[in-house]
Amino acid sequence: MPKGTKKSDMLKFVNTGQNYPEKREPTLRTEDFREIADRYAPEKAAEQSARCSQCGVPYCSTHCPLHNHIPDWLRLTAEGRVREAFEMSNLTSTMPEICGRICPQDRLCEGNCVIEFSGHGAVTIGAVEKYITDTAWEKGWVEPLAPGKPLGQSVGIIGAGPAGVTAGEYLRVAGYDVHIYDRHDRAGGLLTYGIPGFKLEKSIITRRMKRLEDGGIHFHQNFEVGKDATLDDLRAKHDAILIATGVYKAREIMMPGVGAPGVEEALDFLTASNRKSFGDDVPDFDNGRYNAKDKNVIVIGGGDTAMDCVRTSIRQGAKSVKCLYRRDRANMPGSQSEVKNAEEEGVEFVWLSAPKAVEGTEHVTAVKATKMRLGAADASGRRSPEVQPDSEFTLEADLVIKALGFDAEELPTLFDSPDLNVTRWGTLRVDHKSMMTNLDGVFAAGDIVRGASLVVWGIRDGRDVTEHMHKFLRAKKQVEKAAA
Ligand SMILES: Cc1cc2nc3c(=O)[nH]c(=O)nc-3n(C[C@H](O)[C@H](O)[C@H](O)COP(=O)(O)OP(=O)(O)OC[C@H]3O[C@@H](n4cnc5c(N)ncnc54)[C@H](O)[C@@H]3O)c2cc1C
Ligand code: SF4
Repeated sequence: MPKGTKKSDMLKFVNTGQNYPEKREPTLRTEDFREIADRYAPEKAAEQSARCSQCGVPYCSTHCPLHNHIPDWLRLTAEGRVREAFEMSNLTSTMPEICGRICPQDRLCEGNCVIEFSGHGAVTIGAVEKYITDTAWEKGWVEPLAPGKPLGQSVGIIGAGPAGVTAGEYLRVAGYDVHIYDRHDRAGGLLTYGIPGFKLEKSIITRRMKRLEDGGIHFHQNFEVGKDATLDDLRAKHDAILIATGVYKAREIMMPGVGAPGVEEALDFLTASNRKSFGDDVPDFDNGRYNAKDKNVIVIGGGDTAMDCVRTSIRQGAKSVKCLYRRDRANMPGSQSEVKNAEEEGVEFVWLSAPKAVEGTEHVTAVKATKMRLGAADASGRRSPEVQPDSEFTLEADLVIKALGFDAEELPTLFDSPDLNVTRWGTLRVDHKSMMTNLDGVFAAGDIVRGASLVVWGIRDGRDVTEHMHKFLRAKKQVEKAAA
């Protein structure tokens, strides 16, 4: 228990819904941005943790993809036993401080907290999770990665995102020689170059990746499978392969003028901004291409990537930022808390509106759009947007960012592996019992199997696939031994 805090004091906060961030007025002032989820002082973390009713039906845990032992580490935090809370939270997650920052908790753990159901506001589980592991790093409780007794087998992992590095960590601990190949110059996948630094500070990822490297995982950066090696080359080098390449083919929008200069892809825009925050030389940012400063920005799309683009544009000093989405607020795929944050920061949402054409020949000058209305529900139960006749309008624009989501790249072609089975969406087809593709010893995990998903699901897949790969590798060793 924190010094000077009595448990009875902490319990005063149970069910009161106190200590939530105050409502803010719309603003464009940098000092008012909500950069990272609340930073908790020990007392505040204890207060929030003590609000957990230890209800015995931990819906929060069942709705956390990692099934984190949430009520247990909340109880330990409330009692001031933060180191034990950290150790418990570390049992099920390879990066709790990252999930605490960027999981959409309103759809997962916190959205299923019984205190939330009773109308008193969920325990702020994510912020407490972040507090516990940040404290562990500060106090030196995070142990170096301890590799297991060498097993004499090696594993090649393609993709250093959450799924790949999670599997890499567990396989290293089990005693395998682990090689992670990634086409970027830094590890982390979308944690590094997708998610903006105001949601997830880059130093948080860097220290996690350094721990893995120090633990003997070999990172092969700037190594693109398909260009620097084929899948078969890697299969010949390693005893098993994990494909965890994520999904990167940006969905296109067909409309006149879409190829005009000034119409950009969301991930290119975000990557440039993230690179800049690492201090890299980014000519396309410096020449203004990916810089929203003093521009009228229009972001097309309603998912979390669109929210990251609008909020990044605001931080870069855009003149105005509008988000164009063809459905209404209730039907958008992005997290509601992100919309709220964006609105508070000055983003204007133009609901029920779809772009029709981009104007400007030398450079984009405007977007012509049309109003939409929601028609009958489709097979998925979602109401389809329909064009409202005679409802055209024009919005001024100097930068248009397309944020319409991502599909899988064509891996069989890219990897020169035409036999690799894919689904009709291009994601890798795996046997869900073994997480293995149709190629012997080639496993797959993360977005490349699920389609665009969440970091926490990538970690879960990375954790699950380890067990299957371990089983496969043990059996392979036995066969080789018997044949020798
Ligand atoms: C802009 C944006 C914001 C997001 N925000 C959130 C959020 O706030 N919260 C959340 O939970 N989720 C968020 N997501 C989703 C989340 O980032 C992904 O679901 C998650 O990163 C998937 O993990 P992964 O390991 O499967 O793939 P990735 O993180 O995509 O990593 C795949 C890695 O494979 C590498 N790679 C690809 N092809 C090759 C190749 N041929 N050779 C070598 N390397 C290759 C890539 O360079 C990359 O490093 C966001 C996604 C985007 C695009
Ligand atoms: S990993 Fe995500 S869903 Fe699970 S407890 Fe943490 S914040 Fe909640």
